[in-house]
Amino acid sequence: MSTYDVAVIGGGIVGSAIARLLGGTALSVALLEARDDVGDGTSKANTAILHTGFDAKPGTLESRLVARGYDLLGEYAQATGIPVERTGALLVAWTPEQLDALPGLRDKAGRNGYTACEIVDAAEVYRRVPDLGAGALGGLTVPGESIICTWTTNLALATDAVNRGVRLLRGHRVTEVRTGAETTRLTTTAGEVTARWVINAAGLGADAIDALFGYDRFTVTPRRGELLVFDKLARPLAPCIVLPVPSSAGKGVLVSPTIYGNVMVGPTAEDLTDRTATGTSEAGLEFLREKGAALMPRLMEEEVTATYAGLRAAIGQDDYLIDLDAGRRYLLVGGIRSTGLTAGMAIAEHLGELLAGHLDLTERAGLPAPPRMPNLGEAFERPYQDAAAIAADPEYGRIVCFCERVTRGEIRDALASVVPPAGLDGLRRRTRAMNGRCQGFYCGARVREIFEGEAE
Ligand SMILES: Cc1cc2nc3c(=O)[nH]c(=O)nc-3n(C[C@H](O)[C@H](O)[C@H](O)COP(=O)(O)OP(=O)(O)OC[C@H]3O[C@@H](n4cnc5c(N)ncnc54)[C@H](O)[C@@H]3O)c2cc1C
Repeated sequence: MSTYDVAVIGGGIVGSAIARLLGGTALSVALLEARDDVGDGTSKANTAILHTGFDAKPGTLESRLVARGYDLLGEYAQATGIPVERTGALLVAWTPEQLDALPGLRDKAGRNGYTACEIVDAAEVYRRVPDLGAGALGGLTVPGESIICTWTTNLALATDAVNRGVRLLRGHRVTEVRTGAETTRLTTTAGEVTARWVINAAGLGADAIDALFGYDRFTVTPRRGELLVFDKLARPLAPCIVLPVPSSAGKGVLVSPTIYGNVMVGPTAEDLTDRTATGTSEAGLEFLREKGAALMPRLMEEEVTATYAGLRAAIGQDDYLIDLDAGRRYLLVGGIRSTGLTAGMAIAEHLGELLAGHLDLTERAGLPAPPRMPNLGEAFERPYQDAAAIAADPEYGRIVCFCERVTRGEIRDALASVVPPAGLDGLRRRTRAMNGRCQGFYCGARVREIFEGEAE
């Protein structure tokens, strides 16, 4: 059994970004993921907004890393083809108190280093979002807020990590930790892994791993966020992200276009105890329908094509909990609650700074170029629209999923990729197959047949 220089626990966006960064050095790195795929935890089910950080708590680590992550991920998206739409956001005030809060929010954005916000009157609010419900009194523009594909982000980072030599160990749930003088032995559901350094990026499981290192300093409370997804015909109703004025109860319910051409309403915020409760609830969806009806009544006439829920790893403090235990060669990355998609690459960079005195993180010469990811964005050309691609390879002209217009060529490519899917859900995240208004009713059997045929 070989000993890695670093073992990173958790193949979500944060762990994958860290593994990618360390994979660019001379260190040997393993990325351990409990599930059979990367990006199958919180990183697959969020609102997928690339945040500017305008509303973060000024002075926090989160504020700094969200702002930095916004730039890093924006640049990385361009290099890898992760789809991003620069839609901007409009924060809407519905009561005189909320209207009064707008200058304070603009100032707060400034303290977070974001100075592009402008206060606009009700007429301008309706000019920008004509289908907004009645009663808006004014708004605050946040031109930089953007929508992104969270699935492709996670996959690009993990693919890049593997291309750089990181050993991806899926199906490796860490269950025990034994720290020795030189190395730490991790017992996993698929055997033992030994490493000199361990980085805990286990999201909802970060407190459990921390406890295995002997700590008792925080508890993760899974905070469920449910969302409603509306049909693509609704997309013109939401030209930008429509945000509520945040309150002490959280960021509130937004209406947002999605990168796949839909519109979504959500998320709720409900503290649970069950860390596996990613199902949606009748009460949650009813609440969203009520909110949606007030925010944009026209939207409620459109069909809901999907619902989903994600769990934020809340830890009872308004900031990330990142801590280095040099004595035990252990690094905790906890409480990456509601901004980790945006901040992931900056969190990795920050860890690099913390580790610099302990490990040689000089970038290796001759690193492979970042991977070029298949485009899942509705606003950009997809294979079925690309005559040259179809002429060169007719499989890109054979549509399998008609709702999302996914071709046989894309499914074939996903199955042969560096980090192939382990199941149909993973295939959906790599191609959009079965993700449309029929939710796989028509194409599901065919997609399964291809998946099983190619997997053989
Ligand atoms: C409703 C909702 C909306 C959100 N909206 C946004 C948004 O718009 N923009 C934004 O930037 N962020 C958003 N977020 C936050 C963002 O999704 C998270 O911060 C981010 O996905 C966290 O990534 P992660 O890698 O820390 O966690 P995860 O993606 O959960 O990854 C952790 C991984 O660790 C693995 N793991 C756990 N225990 C073990 C173990 N013992 N051994 C091995 N592996 C283990 C898990 O299986 C999992 O894959 C939102 C979150 C939610 C829930």
